[in-house]
Amino acid sequence: MKIIKLEESALRKGRDLARENKKLLDEKGVYAFDVMGSVGSGKTSIIYWLVKKLKDRYDIGVIAGDLTTEVDAERIEKENIPVVQAHTGRVCHLDSSLVRMAMESLPLEDINILFIENVGNLICPAAFPLGIHSELVVTSVTEGPYIVKKHPYTFQRADLVAINKIDLRDAMKVSIESLKEDLKELNPDARMIGTNGITGEGVDKLIQCMNLPR
Ligand code: MG
Ligand code: ZN
Repeated sequence: MKIIKLEESALRKGRDLARENKKLLDEKGVYAFDVMGSVGSGKTSIIYWLVKKLKDRYDIGVIAGDLTTEVDAERIEKENIPVVQAHTGRVCHLDSSLVRMAMESLPLEDINILFIENVGNLICPAAFPLGIHSELVVTSVTEGPYIVKKHPYTFQRADLVAINKIDLRDAMKVSIESLKEDLKELNPDARMIGTNGITGEGVDKLIQCMNLPR
């Protein structure tokens, strides 16, 4: 007997909607990033620096995913760009349907880069495609020396990895080289760039690796 499960049907619906999201973004000329990473890795800080350094050259929009708060969205909004807050309540990831609703309340005609800050979590966001162009993972040396190895699904999907809080690497006894080796093993095409979300160090290099539209 063929058994069809609700979970599979929901995942398929999510994938279909992700494809539609991508189509809409392409029609409007928007290049979109999914920014994933643990709570406290520095996703908002890195987005803040990206916005600061890119907003003279590009029209940027941000979707900030969070369970219940607006603190991150408010921080980015001070840069005078369109920001939408997406609250997930008890759900620990964004999905294509919530992102679609957030996209619909952004002025997509006037935007050419969209950063989507996913909920702080390195595990399940990797299973929910949003329909974006590029995956940026923000992790940090304070997450320990095995962070890449322990999250293969997320790092396999990454196009670019910011290894944040590099100023703390000695105190944390974490080798950036060995994290880079771990990433290379899982995903030879991804690049890892050291960053400091407080000072903005490394963000220019991150931008160079971002394949941004001209
Ligand atoms: Mg944040
Ligand atoms: Zn989740």
